Amino acid sequence: MTIAVYPGSFDPITNGHTDIVKRVSALFEHVYVAVYDRPEKRLLFSVQERVDLAVKATEGIPNVTVQAFSGLVVDFIHRVKADVMIRGLRANQDFEREFEMALMNHKLAPDVELVCLMTSARYQFISSSVIKEVAQLGGRLDGMVPDHVREALMLKYADHIKEVEKRMGAQYNNPSSRT
Ligand code: ADP
Repeated sequence: MTIAVYPGSFDPITNGHTDIVKRVSALFEHVYVAVYDRPEKRLLFSVQERVDLAVKATEGIPNVTVQAFSGLVVDFIHRVKADVMIRGLRANQDFEREFEMALMNHKLAPDVELVCLMTSARYQFISSSVIKEVAQLGGRLDGMVPDHVREALMLKYADHIKEVEKRMGAQYNNPSSRT
């Protein structure tokens, strides 16, 4: 039985991530979506929120478990008795970092194999950080994240979006302020 672990920050999970999960679930007996509790990034959602959003986003896929983890991903992989680590690759931006991380993880745990899946073309431009940028400015996210993630983003950014709309309203009502 081959078990796979798909680790990431998932801040928040996007349709690019869920596409990878669906494709991986067809290849392996079981897939753990492993939500890293404290990545070296500024996070919008707490680890529990990221797990809850990912659980809902993957609930139609039977052989998937979402779980938070701390520490080294290779330790998590050993703990759940998995054999394979999954990563997703988008053109231009992911390869070098993934290659560097893969070499390090291989040094730490030579028994763990890395499998990288190419993004589907329609998700190539989707990343959690771009999603957050667009959400913050009140932009449409149709087809990029599941509905419940869009709603969670709107809630997080409600005050910010109101502020942006107020500023835009003031700009259009006062032509002299346009540059
Ligand atoms: P991390 O902080 O570990 O990079 P992310 O949540 O940003 O975590 O991404 C988790 C994994 O999903 C990474 O391998 C990343 O390259 C991949 N990924 C992110 N967005 C996409 C996408 N649109 N299509 C395919 N893979 C993606």
